[in-house]
Amino acid sequence: MNLSEIESVATKIINSLPLGVSLVAVAKTKTAAEIEAAISGGVKIIGHNYLQEAEQMYCLIGQKVQWHMIGHLQRNKVKKAVLLFDMIETIDSLALAELVNKECTKINKLMPILLEINSGREANKSGIFPEKAIELARSLSDLAYLRLQGLMTIGPISADPESARPYFQATKAIFDELSQAKIPQIEMRYLSMGMSNNYHIAIEEGANIVRIGTKLFGVRD
Ligand SMILES: *Cc1c(COP(=O)(O)O)cnc(C)c1O
Repeated sequence: MNLSEIESVATKIINSLPLGVSLVAVAKTKTAAEIEAAISGGVKIIGHNYLQEAEQMYCLIGQKVQWHMIGHLQRNKVKKAVLLFDMIETIDSLALAELVNKECTKINKLMPILLEINSGREANKSGIFPEKAIELARSLSDLAYLRLQGLMTIGPISADPESARPYFQATKAIFDELSQAKIPQIEMRYLSMGMSNNYHIAIEEGANIVRIGTKLFGVRD
């Protein structure tokens, strides 16, 4: 898509979302000009999967938008990631949480995080299995520089949007359970679910963050 198309599609998507649902514009492989076009169209949050690419874009675009880490965070990238990102959506182990907490302590930055749920229990995917989520939430609640604010899931990839529904429902059920668990320091506010082909379903199942790349920027190379 050309830049003016990106801008108008961004506005159209944002205007179509129900009140209270935020758009994360997923910018992997996209240029600064393309990201700027989306921002002109009203985008307020950029999602990135890769730290190095995100850093390049952050240098050009800066803090006029928020930056969410939505890809698997490698341990050796944590130090840089905490400088850049406003939220890390992909915490899936206590070890990773402790490392993020340690680096945030050094720079005195409170980091909002989401737990990534491997809702399809897929062996090759990152994220914590559903039955382990509550235990992880409890065990990281005493990490002083982390603020657990919700859950994120991708779910098994399928061309049929409806096939994602059970995985979104399962993630919402954990979200509700955590909301009622009264764990200190956690405040369940965000449920990040749904991508270009299934975000409508995700919103029906309670998502209030949707992560959209292809529909906004066009097909990736
Ligand atoms: C790429 C990606 C998206 C966006 O996918 P599209 O199908 O292009 O909308 C959303 N979430 C994550 C974690 C991604 O890696």
